Amino acid sequence: MRARIQKSMILILAVTLLISYGLVSLIVYRQSLDILKSDVRQEARYIQKAIEISGTQYLEQLDEVDVDTRVTRIGTDGNVLYDSRRDESTLDNHKDRVEVRAALKSGTGEDVRMSDTVRKELYYYAVLLDDGTVLRVARNVDSLVSTALQMFPVMVGIALLMLVLVYLLARWQTAKLIQPINELDIEHPLDNAIYEELTPLLSAIDKQNKEKDAVANMRKEFSANVSHELKTPLTSISGYAEIMKNGLVRPQDIQNFSERIYKEARRLITLVEDIIKLSKLDEASVELEKQEVNLYDITREVVSRLSMQAAAKKVQMSVQGEPVVYRGIRQILDEMVYNICENAIKYNVEGGKVSVWVGNTLDGPKLSVIDTGIGIPEEHLDRIFERFYRVDKSHSKETGGTGLGLSIVKHGALLHNAKVTVESTVGAGTKIEIRFPREVSETEK
Ligand code: ADP
Repeated sequence: MRARIQKSMILILAVTLLISYGLVSLIVYRQSLDILKSDVRQEARYIQKAIEISGTQYLEQLDEVDVDTRVTRIGTDGNVLYDSRRDESTLDNHKDRVEVRAALKSGTGEDVRMSDTVRKELYYYAVLLDDGTVLRVARNVDSLVSTALQMFPVMVGIALLMLVLVYLLARWQTAKLIQPINELDIEHPLDNAIYEELTPLLSAIDKQNKEKDAVANMRKEFSANVSHELKTPLTSISGYAEIMKNGLVRPQDIQNFSERIYKEARRLITLVEDIIKLSKLDEASVELEKQEVNLYDITREVVSRLSMQAAAKKVQMSVQGEPVVYRGIRQILDEMVYNICENAIKYNVEGGKVSVWVGNTLDGPKLSVIDTGIGIPEEHLDRIFERFYRVDKSHSKETGGTGLGLSIVKHGALLHNAKVTVESTVGAGTKIEIRFPREVSETEK
């Protein structure tokens, strides 16, 4: 991370330095040119004054004095009359030089160009003298490149200094970023006072912690409930058995007692079976393969299995709808339908009715089970899917309910992404529906 921060900082630095190097060179070049221009003009004016006072022979003395400045005097016809650096006779006619032409025409003239004679960039300034000749003063101009080159060592110095600074800054910044992360209190993520960019992460950790806690609590509660639920029938069984062992039961009552023991043992078996089913569902049932099943066939089969139970309670059952092929886990779907239909019989009234409908809707397959039973009070509706939850605990022994049936339905629905809804009116009946998600067909993909 630090290397990455350093890299990007160095990149920014390099670009900034390059741009400012170019700009500064340009500005310095322009400024020194301006200064040079005004210097040269001033010098030309001084020389002009000197010539006015002491005549043109004044120029001859310049030869030894100035090294930087080149002074030239050009006649009206363009011939060079004097040059401080060259022998006048070797120089060609200067009439066409930009600054000379301008001076002859309007009194002054200037130009920046490469000199033919000295192979350097020069600034030329020319003035018309009283005698009609032209005085020209010229000086070397530092080119943009040489200005840039002059600044190069300074820029390298600045770059080095900045590099060191960037290195230190990146180190300091990463340390500052990382330190609070290393010191995070993962158990209480929201208590950390840390920069706001980390809040989403902390919230996510907090949510996960809470979920973990909730699952742990549920497990604990479940184990406690299981022990309790197992203990009740076992206590009864051992109680009846003890009385019989002690010979306290009259012979004609023996059958009655055995019957009770048998019932409690059956109840225990059902309970253990349900618990096994639930814990299998808990294990995310990856090993259970999904396959094409016909929900309608499953339902008919379940209803026929329950026919004895229904007949015993004089409950009339009917199945309607149409064949629905659905990709799901057969065993679990069977269990779900069974539990809902069994409840519709168990919590029905004598002579009641159970109407089952299975079919396709626009939103996908649907199973609906309507009974004319005792109904569920509204305040219990939210809770009946909880493990071991029974509306009427005192009667659950008679109905043989474990309170696990609807938990299995809920879990199975989750595995199939299905939704379970309950509507109920006390004394009138209950409607439970499972809506399965619509399967995306090949042509729609
Ligand atoms: P149980 O094994 O007790 O039937 P369930 O989880 O299947 O456990 O159901 C939880 C509780 O919901 C039941 O004890 C019962 O009180 C209530 N219940 C479920 N289905 C119905 C229904 N069709 N009509 C009335 N009450 C119902």
